[in-house]
Amino acid sequence: MYLYNSATHKKEEFVPNHPDIVKMYTCGPTVYHYAHIGNLRSYIMEDVLEKALRYEGYNVKRVMNITDVGHLASDADTGEDKMLKGAKREHKSVMEIAQFYTDAFFDDCRKLNIKRPDVVEPATNCINEYIKIISRLLENGFAYEAGGNVYFDTSKLDKYYIFNDHDEEDLAVGVREGVEEDVNKRNKNDFVLWFTKSKFEDQALKWDSPWGVGYPGWHIECSGISMKHLGGDLDIHCGGIDNAFPHHTNEIAQSESYLGHKWCNFWVHVHHLNTNSGKMSKSKGEFLTVSLLESKGYDPLAYRLFCLQSHYRRNLVFSYENLDNTAATYEKMIAKIAALKPNEGAPMDQAAFDALKQKFQAALDNDLNTSLAITAVYDALKYKTDDQTKLAVLADFDRVLGLDLIEKAAKKRKELAAAPKAGGFAIVSETGESDPQVEAQIQARQDAKKAKNFQEADRIRDELKAQGIELTDVPGGVKWKRA
Ligand code: AMP
Ligand code: ZN
Repeated sequence: MYLYNSATHKKEEFVPNHPDIVKMYTCGPTVYHYAHIGNLRSYIMEDVLEKALRYEGYNVKRVMNITDVGHLASDADTGEDKMLKGAKREHKSVMEIAQFYTDAFFDDCRKLNIKRPDVVEPATNCINEYIKIISRLLENGFAYEAGGNVYFDTSKLDKYYIFNDHDEEDLAVGVREGVEEDVNKRNKNDFVLWFTKSKFEDQALKWDSPWGVGYPGWHIECSGISMKHLGGDLDIHCGGIDNAFPHHTNEIAQSESYLGHKWCNFWVHVHHLNTNSGKMSKSKGEFLTVSLLESKGYDPLAYRLFCLQSHYRRNLVFSYENLDNTAATYEKMIAKIAALKPNEGAPMDQAAFDALKQKFQAALDNDLNTSLAITAVYDALKYKTDDQTKLAVLADFDRVLGLDLIEKAAKKRKELAAAPKAGGFAIVSETGESDPQVEAQIQARQDAKKAKNFQEADRIRDELKAQGIELTDVPGGVKWKRA
């Protein structure tokens, strides 16, 4: 598989450090509010990446943090703790807020078929890990204490910027508009590893540490949790592109200074979901959630398809009009699959299966080209082979796509079979299968009966019987099965 690596700015062949396991880390949500569908775009695409790796035969261990402390309103280590802000807004404790929005996040993930990572770790569980890392950074001269806090000293690094070639001044936190400079910092990009009393007296969550009672900075969480569960080397670290700087840049700075060697090989960043007015963001207040889409009648998986239709390294603009188009595409796709006739136990057309799978896999291998992978679904539907093989191929693709293609098609088939036809007449297969030809004959028999042409009605019944189809007249319709 070739993946674009933000750290090297090119597509590279993915090779894990250890052949038997892919170690993957994902920045999890800050649980002070619902996730918006922009956040969920990142998680959908990361889910596809994990599933594509598993599809290729890799064994994956994926770890995600839950940020329930330490993420301040500004990247510049200033402003209120986001969790505290959420708790105040809702008149609840920080832990209640964290639990509520963590559950809400995983509810959304379930609706979007995002697999739960193998390890999910709240940041507040790992205070000892952070203290261990910070202590060594202080010993090694990569950190300093000032004004009650512990800071990472970026001047000790040969190279600080990893992901962008921007002019330092552009990125320097201290010079951004509206952000007051922290006078304790020796260098403008230094960041807090541990807060003590400083400016946040009313911090609800506090722990003892060698530097006084306080709480960890946001960046140290991800380094600590990753190393706790995955050790000192990482194959893939993912997150939204807004996390590249300063969050991931700082993660690399502190992790590599602590370890004394390279930490993570591949950095995968998902680009933003935007609205017409710009980036969707939690702190801006107005944002779209999965529940909102559901309340407007959208299937959450139509949103998943919406994300899969575009490449993860391009910004994606959300509008209801675009989502309507995708919802219609999804409906049609499911209807086409529903028209395939399952014939379980039939021999598989292995050559067709392999040819279709090859195109699908090649699309994923090319930096996760999900829109091309979707076209492989249409190729399968059109391919000259039997329906059972097509269904087997589509079930195989859905291990990565996660669109419930087979389940939704089966449901649709049942609905079609049970739906009363014109005149309130239901034609129901006793096994749940659908066969448009049989259904048309049954309807013709019903029409003949209505026209009192009983001879014709009996003739059709006999014809179906000769084909091995047995009919039972029931109130409001006919049930049929194969003898
Ligand atoms: P947060 O809960 O704010 O820590 O963000 C959770 C994830 O969503 C992170 O990986 C962010 O980089 C990502 N993210 C934030 N905003 C967007 C957006 N508009 N589009 C895509 N991903 C986003
Ligand atoms: Zn992180």
